Amino acid sequence: MYIGIDIGGTHTRVALGQGEILQEKVDFPTEDFPTSLQKIKEALENLGKKSEIQGIGVSVVGPIDLSNQKLLKPAHLTAWQGIAIKDELERAFGRTVVIKHDAAVAGLAEWKYGAGKDKNPVLYYTVSTGVGVGLIVNGKIFEGTHNIEAGHQIVQRGGPACTCGQNGDLDVFASGEGILKRTGKSSKEIEGTDIWGQLIDWVAVGVTNSILHYCPQIVVMGGAQTNNQDLFFPPLRESIKKYLHAIPIPEIVPSKFRADSGLIGALILAEEKSDK
Ligand SMILES: [Zn+2]
Repeated sequence: MYIGIDIGGTHTRVALGQGEILQEKVDFPTEDFPTSLQKIKEALENLGKKSEIQGIGVSVVGPIDLSNQKLLKPAHLTAWQGIAIKDELERAFGRTVVIKHDAAVAGLAEWKYGAGKDKNPVLYYTVSTGVGVGLIVNGKIFEGTHNIEAGHQIVQRGGPACTCGQNGDLDVFASGEGILKRTGKSSKEIEGTDIWGQLIDWVAVGVTNSILHYCPQIVVMGGAQTNNQDLFFPPLRESIKKYLHAIPIPEIVPSKFRADSGLIGALILAEEKSDK
């Protein structure tokens, strides 16, 4: 059995499993690094009593400095800035861990077992506390130097400030945190309203740009804002039709694993590593 750890801006999840099957999972709020690390260690000890652990994979919010495996300045986890995440976790767990960017890890799960199975490339978008983007090419995460950070693509010159330090980026207009900051309302409260319509339209601008950049065969979308699929996907597809004319629009589908995609992707990382 393998351990998958998904460290998000709001929640941390730890699961024991293999392939696309999660045998058991634990979920707790993400706090400062020492507190979260302690909780993850406790979860590992408990899960480790149920089965031998063959490897550990971790999904974490970016951006990550890939050359030294440090968190740069996570827009939705600012307290973790500068943490040498791989070193810290390996020291705490006493074994090798594989760490990748959360949206890319979720995309990997959707490519291997989910809504993007057998498609190439797979573009994954999460619209949640933050907006994250992952790209899977030939079954591998495309990382570049710092992972794709297209959630922070600029969509309006001189727009409102994002916690990442930029202005007018997609995250400000479409993330749960951005919506709360600009309107004082949660994403759930704005569903079906004019603000919701604007959110969808901003997401459509971002997804259109990403389709033009990466030419994916399929776009898989997850995250809390996409949970109400009837309110999210039909208007999104309509908006993209309005913007995208240069190339055909690829399939745009909901994620199969929803909130579990990061955990399943983390299990894949753990399993790939242990095969080597
Ligand atoms: Zn930003």
